[in-house]
Amino acid sequence: MRFHIITLFPHMFDSYINESILLRAQKAGLIEYAFYNPRDYVEPTEGQKQNEKPYLRIDDKAYGGGPGMVMQAEPVLKAVDAAREAIAKIKDAKKPKIIFFSPSGTQLETAYAKKTAKKYTDIILICGRYEGVDARVVKILKAEELSIGDYVLTGGELPAMVVIDTIARQIKGVLGSFESLEESRTASSEVYTRPEVLSYKGKNYKVPKVLLSGNHKLIDQWREQRGKKKEK
Ligand code: SAH
Repeated sequence: MRFHIITLFPHMFDSYINESILLRAQKAGLIEYAFYNPRDYVEPTEGQKQNEKPYLRIDDKAYGGGPGMVMQAEPVLKAVDAAREAIAKIKDAKKPKIIFFSPSGTQLETAYAKKTAKKYTDIILICGRYEGVDARVVKILKAEELSIGDYVLTGGELPAMVVIDTIARQIKGVLGSFESLEESRTASSEVYTRPEVLSYKGKNYKVPKVLLSGNHKLIDQWREQRGKKKEK
C-alpha cells in the first residue's frame, strides 16, 4: 500500500511512521509514503516575482465572513495532481482512492480499513488545516470525506496517521507473527503477560486462571464474555 499525503506539515509524520510496527512494515516494503506539500505548488504573485524568497500564501479569508482562514483550492489540487501523476507511473497501481479529512465526514471503522486495504494499492490523503479547505476541492476530486471521530482537531495530519495505522494493520505481514487478524487469538482488549502474580503496593493481582489453562475453547469463550473486540 502506498500512502500519498497532501499536507502543509509533512514533518508531523516523521516520528510516528518511523517507529515500531509501521517502520518495520515500511522496511519490509509493505507500505510506502510520499508527501506533497501544497505550499510547493503556489505561484508567486506578480509583485512577489522579484523577491528571492517570497512568502507564498496558501490560505485566505472565508467568503461570507467569520474568523479563521481557509486553504485555497488550487495549491491543493496541484498537489493532488502531482500525486496522481506519480501514481500513474507505477506499473501495478490501481486507480487511487482519494480521502479528504473532515470532522463531518463518514466515521472511520475497522470494516472500512479492511475493505480499503483489500481494494486499493494507492491512497491519497488530503489533510486540511485552519478552517478547512475550499469546498470545491472535494467536489472536483469526488473525494470521500472521512472523520476519525466526533470532535474537531486542528488539522488532518493526526487523522491521516490514524487511517494509515488502521489500514496498515490490515495488510498481510504487517503484524508480524499473526497469521491473519481473524485467527489472531489476542485480539481482545483485556490482555495479560508475565508475571503470573503481580505485586503492587502490598496487594497481589493474578492472571485469570482460564488464560493459563491451555484450553483455547474456554479461552475464546472467556474473551467473548469480556467483550473481545472483533476485527470485523
Ligand atoms: N471549520 C471546520 C473545522 C476545521 S478543522 C468545521 O467546522 O468542520 C481543520 C481540519 O482538520 C479539517 O479540514 C480536517 O481536515 C481536519 N479535522 C479536524 N477534525 C477532524 C476529525 N475529527 N476527523 C477528520 N479530520 C479532522
